[in-house]
Amino acid sequence: MPERAHTRETRQRKVVYDVLCRTRSHPTADWIYEQARQRMPKISLGTVYRNLNVLRDEGMIREIHGVDRKTHFDADMQPHAHFVCTRCGAIRDVFPAPEVEWRSLKDLVGCEVTHQEIQFRGVCPACRRRAR
Ligand SMILES: [Zn+2]
Ligand SMILES: [Zn+2]
Repeated sequence: MPERAHTRETRQRKVVYDVLCRTRSHPTADWIYEQARQRMPKISLGTVYRNLNVLRDEGMIREIHGVDRKTHFDADMQPHAHFVCTRCGAIRDVFPAPEVEWRSLKDLVGCEVTHQEIQFRGVCPACRRRAR
């Protein structure tokens, strides 16, 4: 890759990562794109997607599947679970991450588990208040 293109690529990835680091809202690629565009007007949605994939493959960020069937992103790599509201789609962090003692699960005998993810679903406090 020519030097110039490489530098641009690195700068774009930095902006995408930085946008994600500054929020706890577990945004979608579209939201990240809107934010990134304010700092780098020529960035494209495709570039944002590509960089999110690279960052995920490098273990810098993680994906969460929302109730809106969209992929959401999280730059917080500390072990934690998520609560997803089925009414408003909000995604909250849950600390500490509850762990299933997978060694005692007979269906996992012989498997090597590298990570586990727990997602809670239900109605968040704001939606519960609204329903009253
Ligand atoms: Zn809600
Ligand atoms: Zn999170």
